[in-house]
Amino acid sequence: MIDPQKTDIRLLKGIGDAKAKQLLRLGVFTVWDLLTYFPIRFEDRSKVTKIFDLEHDTNACVNGIVVTPVSEHYVRKGLTYYKAQIRDDTGIATCIFFNNKYIKNYLKKGYEYSFYGKINIRGNTREILSPEFEISSQSQCTKCIVPVYPLTSGISQKFLRKSIADAYRTYQKYFREVIPGDLLKEYSLCGIDFAIKNIHFPKDSASLEIAKKRLVFEEFFLLQTSLRKMKARTKKISGIPFLKTDIADFLSSLPFTLTDAQKAVTEEIMHDLSSGGVMNRLVQGDVGSGKTIIAAIAIYICVQNGYQSAMMAPTEVLARQHYNDLSPLLEKFGIRSALLTGSTTAKNKREIYEKLQNGEIDIAFGTHALITDKVEFKSLALAITDEQHRFGVRQRMQLSEKGHSVHTLVMTATPIPRTLALIVYGDMDISVIDELPPGRQKIDTYCVGENMRERINTFIRKEIEKGNRAYIVCPAVEESETVELKSAEEHYAELSQKIFPDIPTGIVHGKMKAKDKEAAMNDFICGNTKILVSTTVIEVGVNVPEATLMVIENAERFGLSQLHQLRGRVGRGKEKSYCVLFCASFSDEIKERMKIMTQSNDGFKISETDLKLRGPGDFFGTRQHGELRFKIADLANDFSVLKHSGIAAEKLLKKDPLLLDEQHFYIKEATDRLAENLVL
Ligand code: ADP
Ligand code: MG
Repeated sequence: MIDPQKTDIRLLKGIGDAKAKQLLRLGVFTVWDLLTYFPIRFEDRSKVTKIFDLEHDTNACVNGIVVTPVSEHYVRKGLTYYKAQIRDDTGIATCIFFNNKYIKNYLKKGYEYSFYGKINIRGNTREILSPEFEISSQSQCTKCIVPVYPLTSGISQKFLRKSIADAYRTYQKYFREVIPGDLLKEYSLCGIDFAIKNIHFPKDSASLEIAKKRLVFEEFFLLQTSLRKMKARTKKISGIPFLKTDIADFLSSLPFTLTDAQKAVTEEIMHDLSSGGVMNRLVQGDVGSGKTIIAAIAIYICVQNGYQSAMMAPTEVLARQHYNDLSPLLEKFGIRSALLTGSTTAKNKREIYEKLQNGEIDIAFGTHALITDKVEFKSLALAITDEQHRFGVRQRMQLSEKGHSVHTLVMTATPIPRTLALIVYGDMDISVIDELPPGRQKIDTYCVGENMRERINTFIRKEIEKGNRAYIVCPAVEESETVELKSAEEHYAELSQKIFPDIPTGIVHGKMKAKDKEAAMNDFICGNTKILVSTTVIEVGVNVPEATLMVIENAERFGLSQLHQLRGRVGRGKEKSYCVLFCASFSDEIKERMKIMTQSNDGFKISETDLKLRGPGDFFGTRQHGELRFKIADLANDFSVLKHSGIAAEKLLKKDPLLLDEQHFYIKEATDRLAENLVL
């Protein structure tokens, strides 16, 4: 049977090699790609307006008979306009076209057309500027709701509308219904035929909504079904069972006892590691909740059982920090560590490669340098990645592919509400550390306006004089933005030259070379600089116990979870710590959001609130999960559909875990395809 998913676009009328090439730029290769190339918006041209009722500066659809031949008006070189008068039973209007001499061939006196364009009223004359038009009785792009697509050069709206209409007509009978009938009924969803037809050429706005709801549901449903299937599959892979799981000696060597939350997560990890299956676990824990020691415990177990581990961090600073924190703890038990990063010297690298290969190193800490081809392990059995959202699933896999059936442990400090975590990390088991070690001081947080600038500057100076350090974070400024924002560079110039000329101040931002970034970070870590001005690049797990003050400029521009992450950079030592949120404006929403920040230090609570107030967009911005792209669904707006489709996916797989039932054939096909291409 013909499958639109596998049918080359060139089989459609009017699409040859050249057009196909242009369409490829839009990601359209098959007929189904074209049919699921969705409009970005619609123009409601369904209402026909009488000439008498036209309003200035609006777009309108008008039915009229052409009453004069098209006349030509030369203005100057490069500007000629063409006019024709039309009338209906309420009045007369003039259609004006610029530099389009072919108009004469299409617009004939005495015929009735419908026009759609911008209305200009000057005194008593009513003009329609550069309207689209078509013979009234054959209307396709007037008198209806018209789709507007994102374009690329060589591809016009008209071409897309026509091709999509063609594709729909020709292939409609071959559409495949991936959503099982009982689910369509249960969630009151329309069939695929109705959905495709009405998402492009909606009969009315109600039909458009119905179509959209179904397609969004489908997109989420397929994603969630395939994630859950992947998870079920990894559960079945057999892993190396670690039979020695006695960690009492290691725990008693630590300067503290684990919190209950840490204990619970340790239990879960021990269970995974000894189960005979492969561990695939995400540990979510607020900043400072003590995730690193959890990693150390897993490493300890792995090495006790005679295997090697690797722990990868997204930046050199972090990798070194892990190495410095953990290698002394592990060394007491004869566990040999190495640090491998981009700046490791060639000679050291060679030595490390060799020792990893012959098993003389038990745990390699490092950056992406760990996943280069040169790195080979004798017996890698545990791969840990810290601050997961900086890595793609691919990179995580590249690390674990350096061994056989490697156990994976991922640490993240982004407290994602459970519903979202199921999507982002849908293929993993999730543990949560929902408690901070005892004795942590609350970070006092203040939200202030520009009028407090002087006082805050004095406060910064006082902290530095006490021997502490301060972060000052500015939002990253996009080139396209014209709003008045404090850019990190400008702010740095002002602070270091005018306000604190006597205090060593550093700067770090995303556009700097990796090496310079590292150097600036290191200066701050070891105290060469006391103030660090930065964009959000410092957000990831950096630990500078002497830093006691976090000042955030234009705090209103950040998501709450991000503010919380940033704030977590201070309060890591014994000294009382503070966070100052400068806001440039105070709408009700901003006030409400800042209030949560000043009242709560609980990352999960904050992220739940963020989700409620701003939708999940912040969690899925390009910054964190850029690769998660939807064709039609929008996490920010379609959140309730997301939940329902998740429940539906779960129910489906409970009934038919491998999707072998005949009526699930298409959904199996679709989810297999999705799983192949999935990058989170
Ligand atoms: P994060 O979860 O942000 O990665 P870390 O693992 O860096 O947090 O831990 C933050 C600090 O808390 C470290 O200095 C660590 O030694 C300390 N810590 C971890 N667990 C405990 C505990 N149970 N009791 C006291 N201090 C702890
Ligand atoms: Mg950490």
